[in-house]
This record gives sequence, structure tokens and C-alpha cells, in this order.
Amino acid sequence: MQIGFFGAARQVPGSCFLIKTGDKQLLIDCGYYQGGGMCDKRNYDEFGFDPKNVDALLVTHAHLDHIGRIPRLFHQGGKPRIYSTGPTKELGQINLEDAHHIMLIHAEECGVEELYGEEDLEAAYKHWEKVSYRSSFEVVDGVIATFYDTGHILGSSFVVLELEGKRIAFSGDVGSTITPLLHDTEALPTNLDLLVCESTYGDRLHPEHADRKTQLREEIQKNFDQKGVLMIPAFSIERTQEILFEMNELIEHEGLVPGQVFLDSPLAITAIAVFQKYSQDTEMMQFDVPEGFADNNFFAFKELQITDTVDASKRINDAPNPKVIIAGSGMMNAGRIQHHLVRYLDDANNTLLVTGYQAPGTLGHDIAEGKSPVHIFDYNVKVRARVMKIESYSGHADYNKLGNWVLAAQPKTVQLVHGDEGAQKAFTTYLATKGVTDVSTPGFGEWVTL
Ligand SMILES: [Zn+2]
Repeated sequence: MQIGFFGAARQVPGSCFLIKTGDKQLLIDCGYYQGGGMCDKRNYDEFGFDPKNVDALLVTHAHLDHIGRIPRLFHQGGKPRIYSTGPTKELGQINLEDAHHIMLIHAEECGVEELYGEEDLEAAYKHWEKVSYRSSFEVVDGVIATFYDTGHILGSSFVVLELEGKRIAFSGDVGSTITPLLHDTEALPTNLDLLVCESTYGDRLHPEHADRKTQLREEIQKNFDQKGVLMIPAFSIERTQEILFEMNELIEHEGLVPGQVFLDSPLAITAIAVFQKYSQDTEMMQFDVPEGFADNNFFAFKELQITDTVDASKRINDAPNPKVIIAGSGMMNAGRIQHHLVRYLDDANNTLLVTGYQAPGTLGHDIAEGKSPVHIFDYNVKVRARVMKIESYSGHADYNKLGNWVLAAQPKTVQLVHGDEGAQKAFTTYLATKGVTDVSTPGFGEWVTL
């Protein structure tokens, strides 16, 4: 067999790996490049293979850097059967619809054709089947595939393939250990001939933190006492639902009084239905429901107001302090959070609570690094609000967890993907010190023969 690397090669975005076995071709993920948004030229480049020849596509999880170019495959004449867990399909549809809206706006701004059309989205959904964790199936002749839980977001998976008498695995994105909703990452099988492994945080250790729920409680309490505005920019899928779940516990069961709370993110609001649906499915989600939960709605409480329309969003301004506003985007470079930042960032009585990774070049990164003033729309906004971080809300395993996960399986060879150069070098060295020495970092378009 041959394995080709057509994305996330010596960089994080664009996951896309092709397996050729006999006369069959199988793809793992088909993500887009997020650096330059939907106008990023790389999204329009040739895939490096002919989409028409791809028989099947296995999708590890619903993040756009793993699914964003799936409709593009269909736009270019491909018709692969698609397989993923149920939540990956449902959250994937929500993410792709949202990306399509943004793409149409950007395509006009950038003066480029659209990456794909509505009909390509429809075609992708029609070809997309749901499979369960740990139930093996023959994905194409002679290839047995199995999904396992990575604990990264709802429905996230790593994929194990058995073909030509060999066993290979693709890590997808591996979650960090602390999360209120997800199972921990499942162990890799042993006897792996090859592991294609992410390396996002190959050079980083997450700090040991005080319980983040305690930190969240303290910030909400402090904001209430000083009658301020607490802004929480949050990624719409997983992070927002985790925060709501923890707030639900704090408010309904631990007596915290938050003031009014606004969820001002249409994408997050849509995704809650998927989380609610799977909250009873112990295969997909786990959490200890506290005694005496008032209802089975784990992501809502009486102080929470959903602002799905633009008018409702504008009315948040009229609500008296103290108030809490959860809004996208997570890195603050788009979305409704920007309107709130313009309005509230220059008041020392207010707080901005950063809950996730901020990529260099984003507004969130600038603010988190202490830049002031910052430019938002046509305004220069002074940052006088307190800027606080909850570090342990991280979606990716650090090198300690990732390393232990790899080492427990002792794969014969490892190909690192989904990481920048520094992270990949550091992780290669780390694995070598632990005895895993056959580690490579393939470039775009490279093939490995097994
Ligand atoms: Zn991911």
C-alpha cells in the first residue's frame, strides 16, 4: 500500500491523507486551510490526486480543518462514500453550512469563484453514513476500518485500518485530559505498523491548573460583585457547551448567582441541539450528573438568554449590569464578540475571559498578549478590562499525554502531521528519548510505501 500526504503536512491545517491499496483509494479527512480563511489560495489548489478515483472517505471529527474541503471533492467530480460517527456528521453539517455562508461573502470580497456550491454540500450529506465507535466494517474491498474515541470534541475519532496483513492508524486530533463532557482518549491498539499522528502541541506542556470550574465560578462571582460585563469568547462547538454545562452546575446546584447570561452565537445555539441529543448516549458522552438535577437540559438555566437574531443580540446592550456574554468567534477575529469588545473592552470594571488557544495574528492573541489599543472595525479600542485566561480549556493533548499515548502502543513507524516545524522537531526528539526512533515528518505530496 501507499500513503500520500495532501494536507497538514508540516503545518496544522488541511488534514488530508490518501491510501492506495490494489485498485482502491481511501481518504482520511479532507480539511481546509484556515490561515487565509475561505479565500486562502491553497483551498483552491489541486488536491494532488484525482477526487474521481477516491472510493471512500473516513472523517475523524467535525472541525473544518478536517472536513472543510469535502464538498470541494464533489465539486470536482468525486463521489466517495463517507463514514464517521453520528455527532461528526451532524456537527460537520452545521460547520459546513456556516463555512459556506462565510465563503460566499468572502468569495465576493476576494473576487474568486465559490469553492463549491449548495448542490455539492447536498451530495456530500447524501453519501455520508454514520458508524459507531469500535464496530469494525469493510470500508472498501479488503480494508477493515474501526473508529475509536479521541476525546477531542463530541464524536471525535482515531481510525484504525487493517489491510494487506498490516495495521495502521490515523490519530485525528487527540484531546487533552480534562473535560466535563467527553470520555478520555481510548488506547491505541498494539502491533501498529504505522501511526499517522497529530503533533499540534508536540512542544508544549499544559500547566497544572486549579480546577477550572472553580476559576469560572470566581470570575462570574467577581463580575457580579463589581457589577461589570464578563465577556467569554468561545469556540462554538464543544467549548461553549462545556462552559454552559459547568455554569449550569454552578448555578442550579451550587447556588451561584450570575446576573443575566447571554449566549450570542448562532452556530453554538444550533450545535446545542446535537449535544443535547447525545447527552443520554453514554458511548458518545460521559458526565456525572449531579444529584437532583432539576431537568435534563444540561446546557440551559433560567438566567440564560439565547440571542439568535441580530436584533436580540443588539438588545444585550440595554440589559443592566452585571451580565455575562458568551459569543463567538473563539479567537475574536470575527463574529458577534467583536461588537461587545468595542463596547465593553475599555472599561476597567469589565472582564474578558479567554478560554482557548489564540493563534498568532488573531485579535484574541493580540489582546491576550497585552496589546492596547486594538483596532476593531473602525475603532481604536483601549484594553482597560481585566484579561483573564483559563488555560486548561484546551482541545489538544500536550506532548506528555500524546507521548504516553503513542508509547503505550509502540508503533513500528510514526509519521507526524498536523503540527508546525518547532512542535514536530520537539516531539520527534521526545519520542526518540523514549525509544520510538522511526519517526518522520512528511511534506506535501510525499508518499510512504508500506
Ligand atoms: Zn480538531
